[in-house]
Amino acid sequence: MTMLTSDLNFADYFYYLLKLEADNLHVASSDWSVGSVLNKQTSHSILKNISRFILDGDETEVLLKLKELNNPSNICGRVFRPGEATYTCRSCAVDPTCVFCRECFVRSEHKNHKYKLHSSSGGGCCDCGDPEAWKQHPACSRHNVDQHHTSDDARTRLPTKLQENGEYFFHTLLKFVVDMFTVEHNEVSDLPPSLQSSSSVDKFATVVFNDESHTFDYVIGVLSHAVQCTNNRAADFATVIDREGRSTVLCGSKTQCHNAKELVTNPPHSTLDTLKTEVMHIYNVVYQEFALEVLAWLTKLAEVSEGLRLILCHILLKPQENGDSFTTMLMMSDTKLWKVARNAYHQLVMSTCLLFNDQKRIFAVAYVKAYPQLISQYLLDDHEHSESITSISVQLFTVPTLVHYLMVEHNLLNVITDTMISVCCVRTSDHREEHEISLKFDPRRLQKNLRRTGFCFYDLKYALTNVPTQWTQSISEKFQQFFANFAHYLASMEGMDAVVRKRDRHLEREQEWESGVTMHMRFIPIMRQLYKWCCVNKETTIECVRCVVGFMKSLYQRENVIKLVPYNGTTYQCVDYDITEKPVSVHYPLTRLLAGLFVKCGSLGIKFEEIGISFDILSLAEPSMRCLSLCGQVFAGAWRRNGLSLANQVFYCRDYRCRTESFNRDIQLLQACAANMDPNHFFVAILDKMNLMDDTRFEEHLTSFTEEFISILIFVVVERYIVGVGEVTWDEILKREVIHTLGDGAKPHSKIHKYLGEEAMDNPDWERILSEVADYKPSTSVNSVARYELKIDHLDHISPFFYHYNSGQANAHNEVLKRKKAKNLSLVFVPQPSPTFTTFYTNVPNLLTCQSLLHYLSSILRIYLPDGETRIQTTDKLFEKVLFLIQFGIVEEMEKVKINEDDGFKFCEKATEGELFSVLHILKSQDSVAIHKDTICWILNAVEKVKNLRSGNTGENEDGNTELQQASSSKTELERWVRKKKVEDRRKELMMQIKKMQEDFLEKNPHLEEEGEMEGEVVEEKKKRLSTDVPVCTLLSWQQASLKSTNENEMCILCQADNNNDPLVMSCMTQSALPANNGFDFVCSLDELQGTGIHVTTCSHHMHLGCWRQYFDSIKDREERRRTIRMRRMNGSYSTLKHEFLCPLCSRLSNCVIPSLSHESAMKLRNISASTITVQDWLRLIEDYVDPPKTSPQEFVVRFNVDMEATEDEQWHDAAESFVDTTEEMVMSQSSTVVMETEVDTTESALDTFMTCLLKNLKNMESPDTRDETLLLWVATVTTFQSEESVMRYQGRGVMTPPSIRVTQALSNLVRCFLFKMNQSQDTLQATREKLFKILLGKHEQSIVSMNVFAFFVLLTVSADGVCGALKCSSITNDKNILLLCCVAQLVQIMLMLDEAELQSEVANDDDNSDLLQLFNQIRSYALLPRVERISSRKLETCLVDSFRPFLRCCTLFMHHITNVTPNPTHNDDLYDMLTYLGLPSSILSMFDAGGTASLDPLVERWCKNPHLILRVSKPGPPNQTYPHCVRVRTLIDLDHDYSDMIERAVNFSCPRFKSKDDSVAPMICLACGTILCSQSYCCQQSIDGVNAGACTYHCTQCTRGAGNSGIFLKVRDCTIILLSGDRGCFKSAPYLDEFGETDQGLRRGNPITLDATRVADLNLIWLNHAVPESIVHEMESNRNLVNIDWNHL
Ligand SMILES: [Zn+2]
Ligand SMILES: [Zn+2]
Ligand SMILES: [Zn+2]
Ligand SMILES: [Zn+2]
Ligand SMILES: [Zn+2]
Ligand SMILES: [Zn+2]
Ligand SMILES: [Zn+2]
Repeated sequence: MTMLTSDLNFADYFYYLLKLEADNLHVASSDWSVGSVLNKQTSHSILKNISRFILDGDETEVLLKLKELNNPSNICGRVFRPGEATYTCRSCAVDPTCVFCRECFVRSEHKNHKYKLHSSSGGGCCDCGDPEAWKQHPACSRHNVDQHHTSDDARTRLPTKLQENGEYFFHTLLKFVVDMFTVEHNEVSDLPPSLQSSSSVDKFATVVFNDESHTFDYVIGVLSHAVQCTNNRAADFATVIDREGRSTVLCGSKTQCHNAKELVTNPPHSTLDTLKTEVMHIYNVVYQEFALEVLAWLTKLAEVSEGLRLILCHILLKPQENGDSFTTMLMMSDTKLWKVARNAYHQLVMSTCLLFNDQKRIFAVAYVKAYPQLISQYLLDDHEHSESITSISVQLFTVPTLVHYLMVEHNLLNVITDTMISVCCVRTSDHREEHEISLKFDPRRLQKNLRRTGFCFYDLKYALTNVPTQWTQSISEKFQQFFANFAHYLASMEGMDAVVRKRDRHLEREQEWESGVTMHMRFIPIMRQLYKWCCVNKETTIECVRCVVGFMKSLYQRENVIKLVPYNGTTYQCVDYDITEKPVSVHYPLTRLLAGLFVKCGSLGIKFEEIGISFDILSLAEPSMRCLSLCGQVFAGAWRRNGLSLANQVFYCRDYRCRTESFNRDIQLLQACAANMDPNHFFVAILDKMNLMDDTRFEEHLTSFTEEFISILIFVVVERYIVGVGEVTWDEILKREVIHTLGDGAKPHSKIHKYLGEEAMDNPDWERILSEVADYKPSTSVNSVARYELKIDHLDHISPFFYHYNSGQANAHNEVLKRKKAKNLSLVFVPQPSPTFTTFYTNVPNLLTCQSLLHYLSSILRIYLPDGETRIQTTDKLFEKVLFLIQFGIVEEMEKVKINEDDGFKFCEKATEGELFSVLHILKSQDSVAIHKDTICWILNAVEKVKNLRSGNTGENEDGNTELQQASSSKTELERWVRKKKVEDRRKELMMQIKKMQEDFLEKNPHLEEEGEMEGEVVEEKKKRLSTDVPVCTLLSWQQASLKSTNENEMCILCQADNNNDPLVMSCMTQSALPANNGFDFVCSLDELQGTGIHVTTCSHHMHLGCWRQYFDSIKDREERRRTIRMRRMNGSYSTLKHEFLCPLCSRLSNCVIPSLSHESAMKLRNISASTITVQDWLRLIEDYVDPPKTSPQEFVVRFNVDMEATEDEQWHDAAESFVDTTEEMVMSQSSTVVMETEVDTTESALDTFMTCLLKNLKNMESPDTRDETLLLWVATVTTFQSEESVMRYQGRGVMTPPSIRVTQALSNLVRCFLFKMNQSQDTLQATREKLFKILLGKHEQSIVSMNVFAFFVLLTVSADGVCGALKCSSITNDKNILLLCCVAQLVQIMLMLDEAELQSEVANDDDNSDLLQLFNQIRSYALLPRVERISSRKLETCLVDSFRPFLRCCTLFMHHITNVTPNPTHNDDLYDMLTYLGLPSSILSMFDAGGTASLDPLVERWCKNPHLILRVSKPGPPNQTYPHCVRVRTLIDLDHDYSDMIERAVNFSCPRFKSKDDSVAPMICLACGTILCSQSYCCQQSIDGVNAGACTYHCTQCTRGAGNSGIFLKVRDCTIILLSGDRGCFKSAPYLDEFGETDQGLRRGNPITLDATRVADLNLIWLNHAVPESIVHEMESNRNLVNIDWNHL
């Protein structure tokens, strides 16, 4: 590369460099396999030259200097990476899009507020420092700086060269970038002239682009065919295409490339759209890729230096020759660019233009100008929204000052609205009269772009979010313009998706309804903001109402024909529109806008007359009446033939997601109507709309129509909890909603929040209200969540006719009654008084007193009279509704009288005239309505009260009501007392009976009592005798006692019989075990053993071997049949191919059966006798055994006997003596019986099955050497014991207390099988046994100290039984001595491999030089380790004990199961207690001299001086292989307390193969080791036995080295746990809870969540218990969806 000369023109220099290096810029074909074709080395060196030229020096140094020139920053502007945590403050954020980055958040005030935490999908930026984003505390401590400098300062402070030429440099570079990005460059001749090269190579590239419509598999298939590569390479191409938006797939000649393109775009047998593919000259490809590097470099400069940022800003926004700025040019070609190119320039724009207010404004203007075009391009685009420039809206349209400026100067609101209109409407005429409808809504166009158009709605919502604080003339004008435009838009949608009632035939094809409902939901947030603008002042509101009325007039005036309806002697004018004949819809957005505006009139105190409406109000309310009547009739079942589509629409109309802008508005409009017209007229109009004028027309539905009709009346009169309709506060509204939400039972926080809907979203107050009305009930188990239960004293506030109750919640009433009953409260329901109406609605209650209604109610009541004749059926529900309406009228009047407000509302009087009460008087005594008797009484009483109040009895005024309540409560009081008395009497009676029976019994059996006592004494005595002696498992007496404890007879769960010669087995699960917790993995340096351990669990359910075989064969057949029928991949949670089945009783996953053997049968295999000898002698015996002395057998025996006599331990002897004879006889006699023979046979067959299953299961494991079945059993025994020990340790349980029956069964039977197998194959083990003894004696090259001592102990103990005869000593002697030596070996191992750092923590006293310390150093010196000085011996002891205890616990557990000697349950895990139980010396120190009987020092010395051992201990391994670390329970990794810290762990993660930090990367943390993996993608798949497996599945086989190929992962961005086991898996919530006791799977709610210890423990137990496969299968059996997931691709 040439050096530049200083007078060279920069642009010339730049292009000269590019041309010069053109051939070096692309990688040589031999080096390229996949990904970028840019030669990174060359491109770096070009950039370096440019950088040196521009910055005049070393880049790093210059940038550091430039950074110092910056003004202190008062804005963060950090652009979020995908997966990064974002925080928003619930009380201070202006809207939910305002976010902090983590750095800023932790330094801000808001960390002490209520906040939400989310995981970014990438793209947005931190709003720290933006005063318009936060109501208070807009900046963190980093960005909280006063800004006195103008931004130009930073520029003038730059070095002269940059000041003078900066613009020119950057212009040159940006021009290059824009040139490369904006025009299609495929040929060299298309390149800018300055890049045209004379010596061009003839090399081309086929480039494939990304889209949303093709799957990975499709792309892989097409590519592997087109460019003739392996599937793996094609998958790599596909990954690059997906991550970066495009990839070169072939470099070659033009023809080659075109051929490849042809194959990609026209693959055989494909009906899909073609993949976008280009053939480009290689220069063009690399220049584009180089342009990306330039962009990245410029972004870096902008981020570092404020001055450079300003210059870049200037260039980016400066109009070029064609009048457009670089940014505009880039934006306009946005959809033509591939993903990384888009992201690169978006990032540059965000790091420059958006960080200065002035520049942001210029950019925003350009953006608004381009907006319609950008949106229409985006609609045709095939990339996600986050990759489109249109996603930048949120950065601009959420800034109030900017929005107001854009609105006034650049007509922002109309630009967006027009864009929305153009997306889904057709204009029918261009020049229209005012309020003429000239838009036609086209649902098909909407359906096509449903998802993409949604973003326009967001933009409008953002723009409307902030109501201007100053309502100027120009704003007002622009707003009215926009409002008219918007209302026009709504008008075009009025009545969309209309339906006509099907009478004869069922609908043939369901109508599409989702897009209409989706559209509706999108309008809701916009409307909420819009109303805020509409009611800034009275004039605006009235103007808006008139505008809407204008549109409604032109829509409905012609359509609405008037007809005359007679009712009760009068004739009324109604709109002639029969909804059962003509089209009707649930979408009336314009009408509902009017309803909403009326509500605003109510809250502003505007009277109806003030508005001056030019259209009659009944016609205005007509659409709402249609919709409500339609809903009512649908509920009544009259529209069934119209299918599900209509049912769904009606459902959504009243659902919490939509109701605020549909159902609620309809009711409100009816209320406005009822208030401002003749109530009789209004009543008749709805009656007519419900088709109830003619009884005969809908006879079958008549009753339900009537019920629905009365419901509408109830809603109109009662529902006033809306600001503007009634005089209510937000608190009261929320309280009522919360209470009713809890009416049908306790609910978790999130559910309540969901039902409250959008209204509560903004109002954190609802949580305060929730805690007022409900009690928090914490979760009781890991599978439940915390809930809130309504307090008893709010039960009365629940109305069964609450308008937001859907049919499903109708049982709220029953729930309330149930709770009231339980508390003995009065069951009479009395409506709560409603708040008063605002002026606008003040006349609504008159509906209750109007003649027509009262006439109607009385006619309904009459049908309940005995002689009542009608077509309507008498239902309880109808009766209840009528009573409720009457009750409500009385309550309303009572309230008004109480506050002395006489506005002529005289319900009682009018109702008496209408003969309502006289009918009720008669009904009171009717049986048909007996259950309503209390309510009728309440009504009649209340009427009297009102009369009294009215007649001036003011004295009674106040307590009138209370008396009423007293009357009812005293009545219930009495009832309660009567009931209580009855219960008490009954109880007494029963007691008497029982006593009598007892007496009778004793009379007949007089001796019983004494006998019982005597027996008790005997038992007591026996117990005493046993408990005075502490159980010792290596004492004959205790082993004898254990034999007596009988085995309970188990029953076969399949045939229910127990007496059968068929051996019993238990279903069990065998899998490869987690690495043993002692650090020295199972491989204990014995050649015979390799690989991992085997873990065995059982559910302890017994079956006959034969019965099980039958069962297993039958499910195997079933599965076989299913497989042949479907010919597809087996969809099941378990597979008999893997020898799996579910336990027939408990459905636990199993893959094996283990024989169930009795303790006796095992003991028969052991030689129990009382002979005991010292360690010394025993050692000598062994020594002679492995290395026989050249003496005759006779002599040997003699010596043995002498020794025995001389050293017999007095104590032991005494204790054992009494049993000796009997036992020996017993053992001898039993072992020779025939019974024994058959038992051996049957046991053998069971054992064989076990072994066969085990071997089958092991086939797929990285298994130990499977040649020797005995060794397999040894491995299984050792690992299962160690694993159970660590589980018990994790749970804090002692080994002396009995574990669960499942564990006990698994452990005992494993030991017994092992013993049995060992006994069968004595001969094969001869060599192994001798070797073991040699090692024990230190006479083998391998040292006992360097192996898993427990495993050694187990094998030695069991195999020593085989030499009892040869040695002429008993099992007990062997056990005891082997145990002692193994303990010593373990202690020596600990001492040699102790982490010295652990000892240093405490300062030692000078005189602290105990025996233990001396021993410690002595042993170390044998192994040539240096002395450890100046340590506290107390500390040493703790360390030793901690490291030693797990081993001892294993031994205790093992000896317990081999001897069946029950430990004293009062004992705990004390070292001393265990030593006692095992019959060992009582301290560590005394173990080294065998309790004072012999010094083991020579033996220890021999062990330590083993050269192999010395080699091993001389170089200490990693800390986790030293004591005490290596014995710690191998739990899952520690999770952070705060979930945001977990997010942080994975935020910097990028795919290890393709270094992109894309949002498609799903980082998963392996909870076993903490590794972060790139999951769910093709890039990191690995092949296992030729099958592609995802990163997690592959990791399972590596991380835990088996363990059933299981793993537990945390999907960080989703806050979800994934259990994985081979090709199956399941999801769980991560163990994090928010303050309301709920998990947040998917991180949707975003409340701060913290670690929950109970759930962590649950997860750990699944892990430690090897229960992952079992949990998965359990979950899969209940959730079939899980079966269809390709788990092995995770
Ligand atoms: Zn920040
Ligand atoms: Zn900040
Ligand atoms: Zn805050
Ligand atoms: Zn059976
Ligand atoms: Zn079972
Ligand atoms: Zn990857
Ligand atoms: Zn792992």
